[in-house]
Amino acid sequence: MEIEKILLRQRDFFMTQQTKSLAFRKMYLEKLRNLIISNENVLYEAIHKDFGKSRFDTFTTEISFILNDIDYYIKNLKSLAKPEKVRTNLVNQLGKSKIYSEPLGCTLIIGAWNYPYQLSLSPMIAAIAAGNCCIVKPSEIAENTMKAISSIINQNFPSEYLYIYEGGINETTALLKLKFDKIFFTGSTRVGKIVYKAAAEHLTPVVLELGGKSPAIVTKDASLEIAARRIVWGKFLNAGQTCVAPDYLLIEEPVQEQFLEMLRKYIKEFRYESGAEQYTRIINHSHYQRLTHLIDRNKIYCGGNFNEEQLYIEPTILSDVNWNDEVMQEEIFGPILPVITFQSYNAALNSIMELEKPLAAYLFTNNAEEKDLFTKKLSFGGGCINDTVMHLSNDHLPFGGVGSSGFGSYHGKYGFAAFSHQKAILEKRTWGEPDIKYPPYSEKKLSW
Ligand code: NAD
Repeated sequence: MEIEKILLRQRDFFMTQQTKSLAFRKMYLEKLRNLIISNENVLYEAIHKDFGKSRFDTFTTEISFILNDIDYYIKNLKSLAKPEKVRTNLVNQLGKSKIYSEPLGCTLIIGAWNYPYQLSLSPMIAAIAAGNCCIVKPSEIAENTMKAISSIINQNFPSEYLYIYEGGINETTALLKLKFDKIFFTGSTRVGKIVYKAAAEHLTPVVLELGGKSPAIVTKDASLEIAARRIVWGKFLNAGQTCVAPDYLLIEEPVQEQFLEMLRKYIKEFRYESGAEQYTRIINHSHYQRLTHLIDRNKIYCGGNFNEEQLYIEPTILSDVNWNDEVMQEEIFGPILPVITFQSYNAALNSIMELEKPLAAYLFTNNAEEKDLFTKKLSFGGGCINDTVMHLSNDHLPFGGVGSSGFGSYHGKYGFAAFSHQKAILEKRTWGEPDIKYPPYSEKKLSW
């Protein structure tokens, strides 16, 4: 069916008011939960076909994440949707003021390929919880997962309510010509600009979840062993194809040698060698080519092996890297970790600030002043002190970018808010009218 027709039918369906009922939202959230559980094996197989992601990684970073989202909204739906009573100012006494979270209507979600289930379904779950209809366009780059999502959703949900639209650039371009009430986009900064421009034509509000170069800083006051372990995990999880992966490492000069040795040790300990089941492959040949070109063979500290047939790139650390090296000019989005050494912590922060604002930043230190400076001086979407990536697993925290890493946020109550309009209503009594409000404004009224 043509996508315009589906959108028109979604508009009609939204007008019936059915999606606004909390029982309706809860029923479909529960249905989705059951479908994900009963189709778990289909989901594991599809993502494994796309880029060799293991069952364990898929469960921890995709399936459990989505189930947790569903459970959060089922549990908190009533309180999230409840009108919020607020204070009423003096001139409006004896009135009552309330904020109503109302669904926006017909929403569009465009996903990226690197966490294909989470990035398409997690915003869709928030859209359902907030009472919207929804069209989801997953990334065509992860083709098997796109097909798995579309067959599960389209066979089990009415298309006038939820619909998965398969397609690539042409289909997305066509979608973006239509009028939606909200567009939620996850992807690159380049395509984010295209989406933003198209949305402006209809004055459609957008959330842009984009990327960038997210730094990890390790100072001499860090607990080095745990820092190395957590950086290796966050960087090489999903073979570095994670929007919040540490893109590059800034290490304080006196501990550099010792720390690089620890990184090497953990890469080995995690058994990321060729053929390892636990280590994800690169999504396609074009990304493989892009990434292998970023490996400067003169700067390899460890790793540097690759195999195109298997789309495997070994976890690779590049040392003695400079800010103007090629690997520092774009988001890496793969298993290559450039290391830059710094003498002054403050100067290191200044260097980060010369680049675009990143989606995430990580600091490893036990020094309170350094933590304070990191939090107050650097601007970034979100991050961790003494860990990597894990901030996004806390649904009490908003997840989103700033500047060129995007705007708007989701997860937990922020996801609900992203798909809602905050409607303000003042209800007045019909008596106790102050005469002073109305003309004619006599001398007596003006001098009051
Ligand atoms: P992408 O921008 O190439 O594609 C994202 C989506 O846009 C896909 O669904 C694709 O079909 C569509 N698209 C691509 N080109 C288009 C065009 N010219 N016109 C219209 N639509 C188009 O991104 P990607 O390669 O899928 O994902 C990688 C990027 O996404 C990285 O920069 C990464 O950091 C970012 N990302 C961000 C987050 C986040 O939560 N902030 C999460 C994952 C990935």
